[in-house]
Amino acid sequence: MNHASQNTIAQNIKSIRSRIWQIEQKYARLPGSVQLLAVSKTRPIEDVRTAFSENQSHFGENYLQDALSKISGISDPAINWHFIGTIQSNKTRQIAENFSWVHTIDRLKIAQRLSEQRHPEHPPLNVCIQVNTSDESSKSGVNIEETLVLAKEISSLPHIHLRGLMTIPAATGNFEQQRQPFRLLHELKEEIQSQGIELDTLSMGMSNDMEAAIAEGSTIVRIGTAIFGQRIRKD
Ligand SMILES: *Cc1c(COP(=O)(O)O)cnc(C)c1O
Repeated sequence: MNHASQNTIAQNIKSIRSRIWQIEQKYARLPGSVQLLAVSKTRPIEDVRTAFSENQSHFGENYLQDALSKISGISDPAINWHFIGTIQSNKTRQIAENFSWVHTIDRLKIAQRLSEQRHPEHPPLNVCIQVNTSDESSKSGVNIEETLVLAKEISSLPHIHLRGLMTIPAATGNFEQQRQPFRLLHELKEEIQSQGIELDTLSMGMSNDMEAAIAEGSTIVRIGTAIFGQRIRKD
């Protein structure tokens, strides 16, 4: 058995939802202001169906081919698919056509392609800029200093809608250290908003740092392991 049983997944979703609710209370966040994105990368389609039957309707995927087979296999318009992986420029068309959100924009060229390739009659593709808040060359994302300029450029593109910022900080078990990059991202969002660009999303927090992220204003937590169990492939 290399993936969680149906009961386990259902139970995990319930307990994550109640933890989010408790953390919202603890940090005086509005109830329901943090959305749960279930990260189903590398998981079989049955696991997505199980989560969907628990009223989980937002799913995050990193690997395009793996994602496309689940998207066409389930083919339910009630599911919102979020692309949260590294974007290769020759893959933008399939992303623009099959997803409703992309969290990992870190250069203008990719945003331009997604906007051009998004069907004009579909709602605009929701996007977040991925920001490098950890100052490590190995981490992807745009530098903090370059984010405002990129946000201005992206916000003028016609078929994508810039919703906010996303980050994946370097892992640490220390709660106060976990909060720092999330606080930076929150401040950056406020700065960009003060320049007249409307943003409503902070995509931050994973299984191990969800509380720190919600404490600092996260509006979408991206949770994989705590719902579906340990992955075999490590990311
Ligand atoms: C895998 C992944 C997650 C989920 O991580 P967990 O630790 O399993 O909760 C969230 N965001 C991104 C971008 C990921 O690649």
